[in-house]
Amino acid sequence: MNTSMSTLLANPIASQEDKLLACIHCGLCLEACPTYVITGDENDGPRGRLYLMRAVGEGRLANDSVAFERHIDRCLGCRACEQVCPAGVEYGQLLEAARGELFISGANRGFSYGILRLMLKHVWLYPSRLKFAFAAARVLRDSGVARMLLKFRIAKLVSKRFQFGLALLESSASKLDKPRTRPDRSAGNEKARPASSPATGAMLFTGCVGEGLFSRVNDATARVLEANGFAVEVLSAQVCCGALHAHAGDLEGARTLARRNIVAFESKETHEGAPVITNAGGCGAMLASYAHLLAGDEKFAERARHFSARVRDVSQQLETVELKSGGQVTSDPVTYDASCHLLYGQHAGEAPLTMLASVNNLNFARLEGSERCCGGAGIYNLMEPELSRGVLDEKLLNIESTGAKVLATGNPGCQMQIGAGAILKGMDLRVCHPVELLDESYARAGLYGRSDES
Ligand code: SF4
Ligand code: SF4
Repeated sequence: MNTSMSTLLANPIASQEDKLLACIHCGLCLEACPTYVITGDENDGPRGRLYLMRAVGEGRLANDSVAFERHIDRCLGCRACEQVCPAGVEYGQLLEAARGELFISGANRGFSYGILRLMLKHVWLYPSRLKFAFAAARVLRDSGVARMLLKFRIAKLVSKRFQFGLALLESSASKLDKPRTRPDRSAGNEKARPASSPATGAMLFTGCVGEGLFSRVNDATARVLEANGFAVEVLSAQVCCGALHAHAGDLEGARTLARRNIVAFESKETHEGAPVITNAGGCGAMLASYAHLLAGDEKFAERARHFSARVRDVSQQLETVELKSGGQVTSDPVTYDASCHLLYGQHAGEAPLTMLASVNNLNFARLEGSERCCGGAGIYNLMEPELSRGVLDEKLLNIESTGAKVLATGNPGCQMQIGAGAILKGMDLRVCHPVELLDESYARAGLYGRSDES
């Protein structure tokens, strides 16, 4: 192991000292921070958290202290603070280092974090086990058992956290009556592509939650890309992006997955060097951060930089062409909520709205506070349920006031968080990905031919 890598692993915060010193303590970030707005506690805001990180980095505070653990764990990682910071503090990278520090500190973070640690180590790093876990989750969802447990309030009797977990699962179900068949887009499957297959390649990153619970969004992404002239490839060797590991502070787990993805997407089989397309804001931001994550790895640093530069959200990729318009999908009001990682991690501000604008006659209703976090933040909603619900309640109130019956958002975690909140609140709201609406509008306009029309 080279020196910079061993420093990163042994002392994640101290290795980021220059970035910590960039903070000028102006406090301009405080009001942008959802957790500070709710608790009013300086330690639950970016500036306070940076103080705590600096104290740990300088050895004035133990890295397993209750204060450090509590306030770092309570951060959503939404990065709204970065956008308003005049000093350009790279908060997201510092938070990652702080969580890495917590992970190796041995701090007692409770039962839930213990379970999470076990899952990340023994399930998430093994694609076959992960597939099995998601297959079991789909059985619970598609058999209607989750819905029944929620309907008869049995889930709530177990615990509110269990109830919310089931609502998250239930919210991932398709609201469409007629699911479409899955095309085979594996590498080398030339028969799967139309005869007039275009030359511009696009490699689809499918994601673990994406493929496990939202494969219909991956299919819609592929169809929309192909309708706009891209040849979509899905590489079977790809794995989870590592975001859950990074959020939990397991940076070595995240690096393991990052290296596997880099190798997988270096495939020379078909469209070498083609853009890596995601439809999940969280995955996209994580993939784009591989360059930073592997900066100290002699063998992978350059390859990680190259890989990260290829990452685009589907909306950003579609902005590179003249986007085809589709038919009308619904006359109900439709609103849009921005995923923090898509907005702040991938800087795709307008691109998803451009995608929605291609749906004919869309009755669009602007959502107040669309740029604010929904409280999902990976599995923050299960780890810090009270703060998460506080953030979500404000979002749901804003959604209700738009009168929307459909909400589009570009990240499965946000889809599930808002969808679960809507289920438990009894709201009549379909939550979906913007690309699903565009896909439906293409089907209605007959862009896929008769067999795909809805
Ligand atoms: S990442 Fe979000 S929750 Fe965390 S300090 Fe910044 S604004 Fe607050
Ligand atoms: S806005 Fe930036 S410089 Fe000011 S306190 Fe927040 S992180 Fe520090």
